[in-house]
Amino acid sequence: MKKIELLSPAGDLERLKIAVLYGADAVYIGGKKFSLRSRASNFDLESIEEGVKFASAHGARVHVTVNMIPHQEDLAGLEEYLKELERIGVTAIIAASPTIAMTAKKAAPKLEVHLSTQHSSTNSKVIEFWKSKGIDRVVLARECNLEEIKETTKNSSLPIEVFIHGGMCISYSGRCVLSNHMTNRDANRGGCAQSCRWKYRLFENDKQINDEKELFSMSSKDMMAAHYIKDLMEANVASLKIEGRMKSTYYIATVIRAYRMLIDAIAEDRLNDEFMAFILDELNRAENRPTAVGFYKGLPKANDQLYGVNGAGVTQEYIATILDYDQESEMATILVRNHFTAHCEVEVFGPKYTKKMVLNDCFDELGELVEVANKPMQILKTKIPFVVQEKDMIRRIIDKSDRNVY
Ligand code: SF4
Repeated sequence: MKKIELLSPAGDLERLKIAVLYGADAVYIGGKKFSLRSRASNFDLESIEEGVKFASAHGARVHVTVNMIPHQEDLAGLEEYLKELERIGVTAIIAASPTIAMTAKKAAPKLEVHLSTQHSSTNSKVIEFWKSKGIDRVVLARECNLEEIKETTKNSSLPIEVFIHGGMCISYSGRCVLSNHMTNRDANRGGCAQSCRWKYRLFENDKQINDEKELFSMSSKDMMAAHYIKDLMEANVASLKIEGRMKSTYYIATVIRAYRMLIDAIAEDRLNDEFMAFILDELNRAENRPTAVGFYKGLPKANDQLYGVNGAGVTQEYIATILDYDQESEMATILVRNHFTAHCEVEVFGPKYTKKMVLNDCFDELGELVEVANKPMQILKTKIPFVVQEKDMIRRIIDKSDRNVY
């Protein structure tokens, strides 16, 4: 079994650092230019450079999405941008357009070019074609099932990357004009308005056929492929990709840590049912969205889609991040992220540990006792009787039956 890459999303520098610290081998980010999420990007060239320095110092790599489908007017500045990414030390770009891929090969030859999933690569022949064009890695279409992934990987001479976790775009490989049609915003040039997830009234001729209380939407359940990781590793897939550049730091820490533990357990041949149950529970704690396995076991069924429910569900378990720790006094400085009351049962966790405790008294910056922490981003101090690090996190212990997973 070759060493497999765990590839994390990151929407900003803080999330990039969390991803790396919690076990990602590589992180992909979108820059402010030529990316499908360019409007929402927090990565200008300066922060990409800082991200690359941080990642390299921890043995990780940075990939940058340059995945728009450019029109003629979009080409200005492309070469210069790619050269800058190469100079900064970015490992790879993720490109969807042959224009961008070929420009990178010529202008910035040290950058690897990974072909985006938007290209709908579904077999080994197409991968060999892209190899002949100089592509270094292919992100398979999300529409491939496990057997197809195995066959494709076996017959391909390029490294293969597959999605294993996160939101699924309802359209085929992200090729969608819904947003263009509804809002005049081009999803293929960075403007997706997530029109698929709006609520719709359905009409047959002039008669509305859905209830006002159950309006129609077109979301898929999120993908959660933890059960397939062993197969993917045995198939010599090169990289396991998590979706979610807009996700929170807690989500990134929890999901990346869980998959890191799972991959390591499989590699060291110590995966058993109990450990898998623990991993699934960890993944459930990241977010309250219903999950399915995407296309891994074949075409998704009706039960794998969400037709009416707004599946968004941020958990309320994450209550604080550690900012600082003084070993002598055992006092931790924490940043409040969600409401909690004093003396609740919590777990403190970092990349390599989880410890349970009852939260001690918390004090604000004036030294006043805080019984109810209800101001997000408030800084408090509390005693933690073991050594913790900056960016470790605190989450409330919630009974499984109280978790709002539907
Ligand atoms: S509108 Fe929905 S289906 Fe279309 S690109 Fe955006 S997320 Fe995907």
